Amino acid sequence: SPMIVSFGEMLIDFVPDVAGVSLAESYAFIKAPGGAPANVACAIAKLGGNAAFIGKVGDDEFGHMLANLLNKSGVNSDGICFDKDARTALAFVTLKADGQREFMFYRSPSADMLLKESELKLDLIKQAKIFHYGSISLISEPCKSAHMAAMKAAKQAGVLLSYDPNVRLPLWPSPEAARDGIKSIWDQADFVKVSDDEVEFLTKGDPKKDDVVMSLWNDNFKLLIVTDGPEGCRYFSKKFKGKVNGYKVKTVDTTGAGDAFVGAFLQAVAKDPNLFNDENKLKEALVFANACGAISTTQKGAIPSLPDKAQAENLIKEAK
Ligand code: ATP
Repeated sequence: SPMIVSFGEMLIDFVPDVAGVSLAESYAFIKAPGGAPANVACAIAKLGGNAAFIGKVGDDEFGHMLANLLNKSGVNSDGICFDKDARTALAFVTLKADGQREFMFYRSPSADMLLKESELKLDLIKQAKIFHYGSISLISEPCKSAHMAAMKAAKQAGVLLSYDPNVRLPLWPSPEAARDGIKSIWDQADFVKVSDDEVEFLTKGDPKKDDVVMSLWNDNFKLLIVTDGPEGCRYFSKKFKGKVNGYKVKTVDTTGAGDAFVGAFLQAVAKDPNLFNDENKLKEALVFANACGAISTTQKGAIPSLPDKAQAENLIKEAK
């Protein structure tokens, strides 16, 4: 099937072994592979799709562990670079009792930030049907220039561009810098996926209001999707807008739900790029993406809990 290339950070999340504690209170941490773009690539491969990942890790045990994991997951890893000097990025992440996520990053700088334009496997990008990325790769040079060059090459080759900003405020110098940086490539995308919270951050408005969401609309977009945890998602296009309800599951860890959702959606688009012109087909793809997002919350970690096609179809059938 057509290839989807995911670009950006791959790192290790350290997650407390018990839920609902702050980072300071937690006693032990579980090592969980992550980085949203890497998760998305794994989500696509798990669904039987053709995924490749481009990014940089340290030439250290964690970096090789992550690259091996992608390989084992069926993701093309030809685009992974290993930095001799810098370490693989680490993030400590916890879901506190109040439901807020707390992040603490070790990036000073980490290998992912050091990917250079000259290290890009442009052939991989040009062969793709979809090029997917986030905003963390925009935060500092030289990765920012590599990101921009990759987007440009994709666009010139007629590849569809998919953007999930994944706002991580602690990584930016200030909230204003985050907002400006995230918006600086806004109009390039064919599809954008944001969460309710991100709509609120970007617009300073009420994300439940359609006109607030539509203030993020750009006429180059084919689709704008807003996810809202267990609620499911809303979609906005030139021709239609609507809501697709989520699924009730026994949630234990929501990390990577958005990535499972995006992976599932992009896999549907790779198979049928005309999805956007047919509201029923679009809704069907979003039903599937919601099911994948929901299942991904039922186990700890972003990657181990990614569903295959049969699991997602079962949840959809059971809920009917
Ligand atoms: P993350 O940053 O954790 O990857 P996100 O904030 O980008 O996630 P969410 O809106 O939390 O994205 O989740 C994406 C999709 O996953 C939702 O639209 C929904 O379909 C599904 N989902 C997320 N959380 C739950 C949940 N607790 N129960 C059921 N489905 C969920």
